Amino acid sequence: MPARTRSEFAAPAKKRKNAASANAKKRSQRLETLEEKFLRASRISAYLAALYSEVDCPLTHRNNFELLVAVILSAQCTDAAVNQVTPGLFARYPNPIALAKASLTELETEIRSLGLFRAKAKSLKRCAEQLVEEFNCAVPSSMAQLTRLAGVGRKTANVIRGHAFGEPAIAVDTHCRRLSRRLGLTQDQDPTKIESDLARILPSAEWTNFSHRLIVHGRRVCFARRPACTLCALNQLCPSATIT
Ligand code: SF4
Repeated sequence: MPARTRSEFAAPAKKRKNAASANAKKRSQRLETLEEKFLRASRISAYLAALYSEVDCPLTHRNNFELLVAVILSAQCTDAAVNQVTPGLFARYPNPIALAKASLTELETEIRSLGLFRAKAKSLKRCAEQLVEEFNCAVPSSMAQLTRLAGVGRKTANVIRGHAFGEPAIAVDTHCRRLSRRLGLTQDQDPTKIESDLARILPSAEWTNFSHRLIVHGRRVCFARRPACTLCALNQLCPSATIT
């Protein structure tokens, strides 16, 4: 039998080491007490606050109505793309009454550059009608009322509650979901369950900013495909960190 080279011995040893370290991570995750998780979440929150002290809403708006329209339009598109179309849209339909009266075809033309523009045009028109008919043209603040509006799900409602009304609100988008899972703050996939897992381990005063900071961190560092763990300020607190 030919002698094995040094690298042939090294490869399985490296595999064993990686498996051992993965198991250690799993074990440490399993063994983390709720108190330890509280502490880790609070340290993560502090790091994120230091990294991203200002968390302004990236969607251009001047009032709650414009914010609601912009957030509905932002589903599955970039904020920059939404900010391209909203100045023209708001000039043409400056309030719920004008938007409720809009022709669907003209509305589609205004937002044609965005994905799902037909469905979004329908939602915007219906949502404006509801604001006029049920809410005296004002954007409501409660979760129950917001989620009755066309085009508004729980995530959109939380963005509105946090930014427009200063209510504690955790907006779970794709970035918030991915980072919460990688950071071991939840094991769930379902956004509503992730929201309640985060709410359980963070003080309500931090909910809004924490979720928005996670979103920013997901866009800038913890990318979906290749997270930049080596450069990440959270890597000592993250059970998914891969540091080479
Ligand atoms: S250490 Fe890596 S996986 Fe964890 S939050 Fe940072 S970039 Fe994401």
